[in-house]
Amino acid sequence: MRLVKLIANLGYGSRREVAWMFREGRITDPEGEVLYADDKVEHARIHIDGEPLDPPGGMLLMMHKPLGVTCSRKDPGRVVYDLLPPRYRLRSPPLSTVGRLDRDTSGLLLITDDGALLHRIISPRANITKAYEATLAQDLRGDEQTLFASGTLMLESETTPLLPAKLEVLGSRHVRLSITEGRYHQVRRMFAATGNHVQTLQRAAIGQLQLAGLQPGDWRQLGTDEIARIF
Ligand code: URA
Repeated sequence: MRLVKLIANLGYGSRREVAWMFREGRITDPEGEVLYADDKVEHARIHIDGEPLDPPGGMLLMMHKPLGVTCSRKDPGRVVYDLLPPRYRLRSPPLSTVGRLDRDTSGLLLITDDGALLHRIISPRANITKAYEATLAQDLRGDEQTLFASGTLMLESETTPLLPAKLEVLGSRHVRLSITEGRYHQVRRMFAATGNHVQTLQRAAIGQLQLAGLQPGDWRQLGTDEIARIF
């Protein structure tokens, strides 16, 4: 891909604007040598205004989604994309969240511009475990582990029972629940089905990829070894 198109696709400006950036000498190699629009140069050796170029397409980010932000651009209020550099909103192909977390759920959220990777992760065939930690309004009844593991729990207004899920009891009102599906409000509805109410909910892991270490609102790009931990 020609440099102007590549840089424009990363959200730095229109092709016309990027062409101007070349003429102004703002696009250089790491040593500060000015680059020209028809140069052939590795992505990693392109700097703009002295800063390395953003990562190329095909990136997967992990974010610690804070409470109070949504995953959908259609919802009112702040969206997770607002936590990324403004330029990332203009990238082509665009970034999408890999599944969603509710506004009132925090934790591990994946964001990618790689449609094939997104579908590989959310495909039911991939059978990827998502682990959530929840605090509950009331003490556990005692039968939740068996019920959730049974594969017979039917949520209101659904026609197929949930797949077996693993519940670990961390306290009388504190649990870790591992599910492989991603039905609407699934964790909250599972506890509602037992007469309980989820007070706080955080996604702690997707596959073997753990949230630990990221503060709310923080994000970073995943390397290939970390991506492999998801599957
Ligand atoms: N289950 C829920 O109820 N909410 C989420 O955000 C994720 C899973």
